[in-house]
Amino acid sequence: MIKNIILMGPPGAGKGTLAKQLLAAYPFTHISTGDMFREAIKAGSELGKLAKSLIDDGHLVPDEVTIALVKERLSRDDCANGFILDGFPRTLPQAKALEKIAEEISRPIEIVVNLDCDTNELIRRISGRRVCRSCGAPYHIETKIPQIEGVCDICGGPLYQRKDDNEESLKVRLGHYVHDTKPLLDFYRERNLIKNFDASGGYEQIFDQVFAYLNK
Ligand SMILES: [Zn+2]
Repeated sequence: MIKNIILMGPPGAGKGTLAKQLLAAYPFTHISTGDMFREAIKAGSELGKLAKSLIDDGHLVPDEVTIALVKERLSRDDCANGFILDGFPRTLPQAKALEKIAEEISRPIEIVVNLDCDTNELIRRISGRRVCRSCGAPYHIETKIPQIEGVCDICGGPLYQRKDDNEESLKVRLGHYVHDTKPLLDFYRERNLIKNFDASGGYEQIFDQVFAYLNK
């Protein structure tokens, strides 16, 4: 059974949905760097204090600090049954550091699940997204239509389109994504860890394929 996973894929490919489905089916721990920072800052650990002072001063958290936090997080007991890394690594130095950490703690990365998705399909998904201003519930003008147009089914709040959820912004984000992740994909391809899944179909379909692959 494969259990130590990195999730990769462009915005709109369905990474978040896939992560939720995997977490419901397996005893994996979800590791997102955002949550990790918030938790370390709240706990007041040395690394948390350092990260907080950098963020408060408007600096980016340097790789060394992020990597030290990832090492501490992946070493914990709840990662013994597997983990899903989401949003890390983002850069080649981070990927190299992660490889070293994973080896040191004997929890090697076993697969990089890469969601491939047709650009037009990503545009269709993202430009059709609407969000409830009151409760944050997600909608879509074609695939998840509210009962009353522009009104949240759950709380009656007004639906709106996020500023970034338009074709122009998405094309810019996708350009950055492709540019930033290419070296990472090459790095993992050389190590034979990449497994591509076509995410242009439905979410169910990807989940079944990933599920079958992990159980091999
Ligand atoms: Zn709502």
